[in-house]
Amino acid sequence: MSVGTGRGPEPRWKARIDDLRRRMRERKLDALLLADLSNIRYVCGFSGTNGLLVVSPRKAMLLTDPRYRDQARREVRNADVTVVTGSLSGALPRIVRFRKTDRVGYEEDVLTVARFETLKASLGGVSFVRSAGIVEDPASVKDESEIACIGEAARIADRVYAEVLPAIRPGMMELEIAARIASSVRMNGGDGDAFDIIVSSGKQSAYPHARASRKRLERGDLVIMDFGARYRGYHSDITRTVAVGTLDPRKRSMVEAVRQAHNEAIDAVRAGVPAQVVDAIARSVISGHGLGGAFIHSLGHGLGLRIHERPRVAALSREILRAGNVITIEPGVYIEGVGGVRIEDDLLVRDTGCTLLTRSPRDVVIV
Ligand code: ZN
Ligand code: ZN
Repeated sequence: MSVGTGRGPEPRWKARIDDLRRRMRERKLDALLLADLSNIRYVCGFSGTNGLLVVSPRKAMLLTDPRYRDQARREVRNADVTVVTGSLSGALPRIVRFRKTDRVGYEEDVLTVARFETLKASLGGVSFVRSAGIVEDPASVKDESEIACIGEAARIADRVYAEVLPAIRPGMMELEIAARIASSVRMNGGDGDAFDIIVSSGKQSAYPHARASRKRLERGDLVIMDFGARYRGYHSDITRTVAVGTLDPRKRSMVEAVRQAHNEAIDAVRAGVPAQVVDAIARSVISGHGLGGAFIHSLGHGLGLRIHERPRVAALSREILRAGNVITIEPGVYIEGVGGVRIEDDLLVRDTGCTLLTRSPRDVVIV
């Protein structure tokens, strides 16, 4: 154990921008415009909600508005900061000089049409080059500082589950469970929820994204709880299912299918394995239990500064798992009129396997 400031390892700032400039050279880009806030945070550390980052071979400039003057100066690495009043895109040509021959990369997958039109109008004749993924691809391989943050977000989620589980009882409202989760995330050091908490019980649990409602838990219900914590910008994402009062044979077989799919998928995770192979393993286990049609979403997703990021762990994913990816494994089965079961954990992909970041017991407890 090391005794220090408690801040953990520093992000590898220089490596991030060096790698980005290497990718820009490969694509023959004279400049890159980043508007996506997670991409901006990854490259330069800025955590505000309004920013535009311009990266060129030798310089980088973050544009933001006066609300973030001090925060930007405190947080930003790898770039100079310019504070602008009004539209950041509109101000760009006054701050950075572009030539007509420049090839300027942009994120066509996140930029709104309106913002793209403003950029086109203000930058005149430059050629815009689609560059989606130029940050997300390297960002899917986490450095030590990121693994520490996601690991802490996962530990918070585990503590939350340990605190909330003993309080769950028949007659309780789904919203009350959600409120306990939200409170516990914050009391355990989380900055907030990773996403809108899902607590769905009974027939509603057959809908994977049902939100918490005023419905009360009744005997025979399956209850899916899907939540996570944010910690220093990074997310965790965990799902546990409990049964109220009893678990009939049909629901028990749903639980067994999901447990086995979850175990076998995790056993298959290591660097070099195509993500779709891991998805297929879980899917075939569930089909083997006669529930093939009941697994209606993909197996998992990357996790980091975003709650959903690369790599996708899905039937149509073309990505190969890499050491340093952090992914979820979350098989589920859903039967209309009966309910659903989902179990989700976060794990770090390694060369020889994986390390679980969320470690709460996975048993479907009867409350
Ligand atoms: Zn989840
Ligand atoms: Zn998830």
